[in-house]
Amino acid sequence: MRTLSGIQPTGNLHLGNYLGAIRNWVRMQDEMPGEKLYFLADLHAITVYNDPAELTANTREMAAALLAAGIDPAKSILFNQARVPAHAELAWLLFCTARIGWLNRMTQFKEKSGKNREGASVGLFAYPVLQAADVLLYQTTHVPVGDDQKQHLELARDIATKFNLDTGTETFTLPEPTIPAAAARIMSLRDGSAKMSKSDPSDASRINLVDDADTIMAKIRKAKTDAEPLPSEAAGLEGRPEAKNLVSIYAAMADESVDQVLARFAGQGFGAFKPALGEVLVETLRPIATRLNEFKADPAAIDAALEAGAARASALAKPTLDAAYAALGLCR
Ligand code: ATP
Ligand code: MG
Repeated sequence: MRTLSGIQPTGNLHLGNYLGAIRNWVRMQDEMPGEKLYFLADLHAITVYNDPAELTANTREMAAALLAAGIDPAKSILFNQARVPAHAELAWLLFCTARIGWLNRMTQFKEKSGKNREGASVGLFAYPVLQAADVLLYQTTHVPVGDDQKQHLELARDIATKFNLDTGTETFTLPEPTIPAAAARIMSLRDGSAKMSKSDPSDASRINLVDDADTIMAKIRKAKTDAEPLPSEAAGLEGRPEAKNLVSIYAAMADESVDQVLARFAGQGFGAFKPALGEVLVETLRPIATRLNEFKADPAAIDAALEAGAARASALAKPTLDAAYAALGLCR
């Protein structure tokens, strides 16, 4: 069994990124048997314009956050795509297997290119093929995918099937989708109907992973709420988006259910709940923030970790890449 998962590198990481993405990787690492490969999809990031210096910084920051949150190079292989040229090489071979008609059916390209289809990069159109290469390169058996990526994994299976058939080989394993653990959706501290996001102009709307204890306590104190006391069970939070968000954050950070949290705070107001929430956040984020800041101060250590991960990924990829070249009759 071999599991692979990728994420685009972003910076200015916040609690939503942690609970919605980063923490799931750390859990998968411990829960899934077999080898785990995690990569930063920097080659995917450039399908739209990315400031080069920012891309470098974001790649390092995402890697630092993953390492700080508990991705352990002894348990998983962590790398960025650009350090493993086999991704781009296999993508080219697979471009020649994939059909234009197949890519024309990808709904995500239609959404992402919008009205400016002619002005979108060829990379944005073709990126599901790079994604197929990411997966097939490692004989990946399991790929955790959300609904938005199911169509792309289906395409990877179609490409693998056609390549094997065209060449009369069994070069590629067909990957299976797995349903990822339900990811928390964290809302803004200023507006319970908007997602917590790094592009919100108000810094008070989010908890950043590097916020210190005083900042976290102050942001929670000022978080928008209503005047009602907390209910005794989850159903009582319907129609109260801010209250629901704060209780959900508490539950996610303390690793409890919403009902368990409410059983303790039922009937109490936010004057009692907010300091308790602030403390849970400070305590759980402190070790991550400390390690994250240590890594950020030492980019060479991050690069070394990614370099080591890339060397292991390249070694795993080599037999499949060699087999793909050979299957096509390419001399090298
Ligand atoms: P932007 O505002 O630029 O879209 P963002 O804050 O939404 O930035 P992304 O870089 O888009 O962050 O997302 C990185 C990862 O974090 C993705 O897996 C995304 O699903 C997850 N994520 C982002 N915001 C939240 C959130 N509020 N709750 C849960 N998961 C989130
Ligand atoms: Mg986003």
